[in-house]
Amino acid sequence: MKIVLLGPVGSGKGTQAGIISKEYNLPHISTGEIFRTNIKNETELGKIAKSYIDKGELVPEELTNKLVEDRINQEDCKNGFILDGYPRNIEQAKFLDSLTNIDLALMIDLSEDKIIERLSSRRMCSKCGQPTSLEWMVDGKCEKCGGDVYTRDDDKPEVIKVRLSKQAVSQNVIDFYKQKGVFSKIDATDVVEDTYALVKSILDKVNND
Ligand code: AMP
Repeated sequence: MKIVLLGPVGSGKGTQAGIISKEYNLPHISTGEIFRTNIKNETELGKIAKSYIDKGELVPEELTNKLVEDRINQEDCKNGFILDGYPRNIEQAKFLDSLTNIDLALMIDLSEDKIIERLSSRRMCSKCGQPTSLEWMVDGKCEKCGGDVYTRDDDKPEVIKVRLSKQAVSQNVIDFYKQKGVFSKIDATDVVEDTYALVKSILDKVNND
């Protein structure tokens, strides 16, 4: 299964992608996480990406597209993958379409009030790279692997506002996947487990078609 997760920042795409990855044994490809790793390792890509990410803006197309192309051509992606945070606009959606056919574009939606509430308690694990939350952590550590957590620089309220306005999922991306007959949407207001139950019912349907 080749899956694309769409949705506003902070809707829980990363969390759901992490669960799908484990349950269906598919690689979880988060463009944001790849950029963060490059920033941490002070690579050339990381230096360029940081200047955009810190402002809440998108990293330029040519860098992001190349990164995704290289990643999905790797051996572990031959039976499928979950893309989290890509594509973010119609140019990226068309580029991805030129590389491969997607089985499901699933929009994980959430109201703006809830997004701001969730992002203010979001933390990232520096060990497993998965998102966590002040409510889920155990003894101040990641509840999944016990790693140290940190707050993303771009989860500051002033950057969140820019990201919400500049990085909304555009209607033309939704229409693009609707026309291909692979678009589905769920609401992620409920707790993670209930949201995952909705995700799973859609995945199983696609898997059996
Ligand atoms: P995320 O972890 O998905 O919220 O991504 C963090 C940041 O990385 C975003 O705010 C963008 O600056 C950058 N980024 C992630 N994915 C993309 C993408 N598909 N295109 C351009 N920039 C991206």
